[in-house]
Amino acid sequence: MQVIVVGGGIAGISAALALADSPNVEKVVLLEARKHLGGRVSSVKDPVTGMELDNCQHACFRVYTRFLQLLGRVNAQSSVRLQQRTNLPFIQTNSGVSASLRDGRLSPPNHMLGSVLKFPFLSLKDKMAMKKAVKVLQKLTEAQRMDLDDIPFDEWLRNNGQTERAIERFWGFFVLAALNLPIEEASTSVCILLFKRGLFGSADAFDAGAFTNHLSAAIDEPIQRSLKDAGVEIWLNAKVNQLLWKDGECVGVQRGEEKMLADNVVLATPQHITAKLLNPKMPIKADNTETDHTTANKVDTATPLPSAVPFAALEVAERLNCLDYRAIIGIHALYEGIRIPENVFFYRILDEPLIQMIFNRNSELSAQVIVPNTQWLSVPISGADSFLKMTDEVLQAEFEKIIDKLWENNNEAELKRFFVVRSKLATFAPTPGSSKMRPSSGEVGSGITLAGDYTDHGWPSTMEGATRSGLLAAAHILEMNWNQDENWPNWPTPPKRGDERWGIWDCK
Ligand SMILES: Cc1cc2nc3c(=O)[nH]c(=O)nc-3n(C[C@H](O)[C@H](O)[C@H](O)COP(=O)(O)OP(=O)(O)OC[C@H]3O[C@@H](n4cnc5c(N)ncnc54)[C@H](O)[C@@H]3O)c2cc1C
Repeated sequence: MQVIVVGGGIAGISAALALADSPNVEKVVLLEARKHLGGRVSSVKDPVTGMELDNCQHACFRVYTRFLQLLGRVNAQSSVRLQQRTNLPFIQTNSGVSASLRDGRLSPPNHMLGSVLKFPFLSLKDKMAMKKAVKVLQKLTEAQRMDLDDIPFDEWLRNNGQTERAIERFWGFFVLAALNLPIEEASTSVCILLFKRGLFGSADAFDAGAFTNHLSAAIDEPIQRSLKDAGVEIWLNAKVNQLLWKDGECVGVQRGEEKMLADNVVLATPQHITAKLLNPKMPIKADNTETDHTTANKVDTATPLPSAVPFAALEVAERLNCLDYRAIIGIHALYEGIRIPENVFFYRILDEPLIQMIFNRNSELSAQVIVPNTQWLSVPISGADSFLKMTDEVLQAEFEKIIDKLWENNNEAELKRFFVVRSKLATFAPTPGSSKMRPSSGEVGSGITLAGDYTDHGWPSTMEGATRSGLLAAAHILEMNWNQDENWPNWPTPPKRGDERWGIWDCK
């Protein structure tokens, strides 16, 4: 069997590697439009300093089991550092008070209870209500969870007795950070997955992880090496323009004038490009937006739609067009001197709509990458659509205001570079009712398999969701009966706490 994988993001990489590892697949070709792999997990060159900086801070968690398996498979264990105990610190700008949510001795879902009870930003009434809601969501079956897909999560929380403060300071923060959506725009079913499997699922699920180098170095280099070793043929700068159809079956792809044939085509492209490839005649909403990580096409009215395109492909394209995106802004601030205490690793900044979090990248990077006497701070701004038009100057003023409030500058550190990356189409939006729009890997059929963070694995738009989608696509082609919550066979198992092969993020 010969397979073409279109799109070299995490989904396409996972699919290509899993397929190449199988003795049943003769040849895997990976076609990527850009000059490097990684898709949305990639760095951008700062034109002023020439430094490669992440398009945005990317966090992972120990619950990202399939993504960590992928990193293990490509021998990139040293590319991430993981906390050995969950420690999620919050700080308030006005008071300077800080506190952490940590796991304690009780078993899940109560493992955070000790730190929640001490958490100074919520009242006892807030906390008692939260405990009740956790009990309710823990008891929901998968079918009951899916039945809540049409309901915005804030509505479900209010119906389950949550206070405004708990919605804002606890539930809302985790939803914004993980789903890249304000809580009132988020589907209850996806939010419940986040809390049930993530925060309250197992004691170590929310051990946070960070990359030890800029994203392209952390991802692209080890992955290209392993794909090549596995026999995958990688074509970069290889944008696919259209699918080739014959008698209702997809028989390959076309890039430029070149036709490439295969038994199976995995489309691991973002949802609006997948829709466009499945139905080139469809006006795609996202076509009118500036894209930074993708290559959107204009509506093609000249070329007739091949009569061989099956109905399922057109129907899936229609559904994909109903899925929205949300933006993320990534800020990088490079200081000469050490601007914030070196033992700060990250903070959720309470009640701040813009500068929601701050990461001290020096605490994450491997020693070889850190330039002496400099500090790299970064801020991911989630749900950033309404902030996209803010100028760099305004963002910098807001950033410095918060930093100065929290840590007075003793003039020992000087901001040398403030660099902003705006990603308009950062993540697909799991809004109420969106789950039924998410197709499964095999839904188009006719020689096409779908992969991508938006497919119906249930996870939000994350590196974990993308990895799962790629493996589900491979399982579909290989006709494997694989449960995505089990390890991918023959790949290294995800790391447990204390696994010395993996980097440790010292967040005491
Ligand atoms: C700024 C930002 C911050 C984020 N932060 C986090 C985070 O902290 N944690 C987390 O887990 N996730 C985060 N995400 C989300 C995560 O990066 C994505 O969900 C995931 O990487 C998507 O992977 P994918 O393979 O599905 O899609 P993509 O990464 O978009 O890959 C698709 C690939 O297809 C290629 N392509 C497109 N058209 C064609 C064509 N015609 N021919 C050939 N190739 C084509 C693209 O160039 C791209 O490489 C963030 C995303 C962004 C943008």
